[in-house]
Amino acid sequence: MLKIYYHRELGGWQKPEITPFENLSLHPAAKALHYAVQLFEGLKAYRGRDDKIRMFRPDLNMERMNLAAQRSGLPMFDGDELVKCIKRLVQIDQEWVPHSETSTLYIRPTLIGVEPTFGIQAPDSALLFVILSPVSAYYKKSKDGAVSIYADPNVVRAFPGGVGNRKVGSNYGPTIEATSRAEKLGHQQVLWLFGPNHELTEVGAMNIFIVYINEQGDKQLSTPPLNGLILPGVTRRSILELTSQWEDLVVKEEVITMNRLIELNKQGRLLEMFGAGTAVVISPISRVGFLDTDVNIPTMQQPQPVYQRVKDTLLAIQYGHLEHPYATIIS
Ligand SMILES: *Cc1c(COP(=O)(O)O)cnc(C)c1O
Repeated sequence: MLKIYYHRELGGWQKPEITPFENLSLHPAAKALHYAVQLFEGLKAYRGRDDKIRMFRPDLNMERMNLAAQRSGLPMFDGDELVKCIKRLVQIDQEWVPHSETSTLYIRPTLIGVEPTFGIQAPDSALLFVILSPVSAYYKKSKDGAVSIYADPNVVRAFPGGVGNRKVGSNYGPTIEATSRAEKLGHQQVLWLFGPNHELTEVGAMNIFIVYINEQGDKQLSTPPLNGLILPGVTRRSILELTSQWEDLVVKEEVITMNRLIELNKQGRLLEMFGAGTAVVISPISRVGFLDTDVNIPTMQQPQPVYQRVKDTLLAIQYGHLEHPYATIIS
């Protein structure tokens, strides 16, 4: 694991160390444990068929991590330097990067405030650590290979002026109860809505996309805009950038309400819905439970679904089948 301490009285960031994986020793008053003065990131290292190991746009994770640090009173850092440390860590542990194109090495950078005082203030000391774990892209699915999601308008994940757009731990613990309730009702994930118009924001810890036939009769890919309620996903951004080059698809960031979704579906214009994020890449959605209705979405009935083309493109870049500037070879 990689560890970098920050001590204000010693001039800030200390020398990075890579040590054997071990437990941390924390003072019980460490601010991370009381006030969630902490944040995390998630990215992956991919081993291609050419045996080279790649990372996918790690600079964007660093940028986002620094924005979360700023919002949480935690020290900011040089993202390029942290990427160098992470590369070194992965090089040392390179045999843990699976020799397979269905698994990857998940990289979890974490920054916690460790100063042992009760005041709700910016901590004088912090610890940035990075741990690794091999993972498969496995995800619980329904019989049709897609997921079913449940939208409960009585719970929100984020709100204007909050931290829904930052990967801070305090956003995630409070989603567990709603997710278990969705599971008890036969769904796999929660669709997070916001506001009186039931705007779609995210699904689980993924950004959400729909594909439909727009007013002009063209096929359109849409995702909600970054209005502060939405985590600015690296996958989301990459999908928007890549698909905007596709000539047969209109790509838009726009507000999508439950009424609009239901209306489009009734008119037979809604074609696909999917979630996107580093962990699962793309997760097709075939059903949305909302109030006392079930919205069945024909995602899995499309002859050439957009979600599959998006997924194939991302995987081709990540595993080096397609040379692309988003991928950085690290070993
Ligand atoms: C991490 C995360 C995402 C996806 O972001 P990626 O950078 O694509 O992995 C989307 N929504 C939430 C709530 C997240 O925590």
